[in-house]
Amino acid sequence: MNARALALVVLLGAVSAAAAGCGGKHQLHGDVLITAARLFDGTHFESPGRLLVRDGKVIGVGPSLAAKAKRTIRLRDATILPGFIDLHVHTEAGMVEGGDTTVRNLGAPLSALRPPSRQLGPLVLMAGPLVSVSGGYPETVWGPSIALDVRSPADARAAVRMLARRGAAVIKVALDPGHGAWPMLSVAEVRAIVAEAHAQRLRVTAHAMGVEGVRRALAGGVDELAHTPCGATPDQIREILRRHLPFVATLHVEELVDGGCLGVARQLIAGGDLPLYGTDVGNAGIPLGIDVRELQLMHEAGMTPPQVLAAATSRAGAELGRSPLGSLVTGAPADVVVVHGDARVLSNESARLLVMSRGNVIIAP
Ligand SMILES: [Zn+2]
Repeated sequence: MNARALALVVLLGAVSAAAAGCGGKHQLHGDVLITAARLFDGTHFESPGRLLVRDGKVIGVGPSLAAKAKRTIRLRDATILPGFIDLHVHTEAGMVEGGDTTVRNLGAPLSALRPPSRQLGPLVLMAGPLVSVSGGYPETVWGPSIALDVRSPADARAAVRMLARRGAAVIKVALDPGHGAWPMLSVAEVRAIVAEAHAQRLRVTAHAMGVEGVRRALAGGVDELAHTPCGATPDQIREILRRHLPFVATLHVEELVDGGCLGVARQLIAGGDLPLYGTDVGNAGIPLGIDVRELQLMHEAGMTPPQVLAAATSRAGAELGRSPLGSLVTGAPADVVVVHGDARVLSNESARLLVMSRGNVIIAP
């Protein structure tokens, strides 16, 4: 591995030992000062890293921050970062311990759908089931439990209203033709879903695969793609670039499932459309918590280390409409992860030293 390679690795053994040593989650009362050799605030690196938190919020940050705190956590050759935001998960368990303080679940049964909450440790935002049609994706692959089938534009609007009432933070549509055998939502249905979602102040993300899936997503006016659009044609890539359409990378899962599509990611990045971080964890082979391989692939596709880290922090918080979530600025939630060494040149030795979610210490140094 070369020196520039991103390789933030969780040494899970070390992490769980640390958690056991501190007796698990606890809220720190009063001011807590965290110091390290460097800090990434969601956009920039600065040195030394100094961060002051109180009652679950950031109350000061910066190299010249002069603060007397009741408690100081000194971590020397380490980087303080915002807690990571994974925009594409299918499980919440074990994520916060691995450094993800916010997760967006893009496919779960209706019975599991909940309004945004931090009850499980990370902030959890949910889509609930994917809006689709009978006999289509995802029920063809994952069974009917995470699919919500609709039959018409009016039916699609009613489904969105029901999901909004049940606490959905985003609406996800499935547009996957498989190998040509799976029916999909019509463009009229996608448009109806987008219009109703916007009326409910929600955005629509699309699982859009193959040329026809991407075509219907673009014609339907979705707000985001939940994966790198591996099947996109050159014309579709130009259209995605023209719209600056946000997309979630999920390059690792695509590498595992389909042999990857770095070429499409490279074209979008070179054109100025940078992906957001998301892993599709819940699929076999994707680790819980921060996924090093995903970060490496984003870097290989042409993003600089600060761009990769911003995709998982400040830009992800903005995509959720929740800035300053994902940034270490005054007033932001005290969602913090500290890793060994320099997060610009993350190595296989970069174990997680500290994880804090809304000021609650999840992993203690
Ligand atoms: Zn997924």
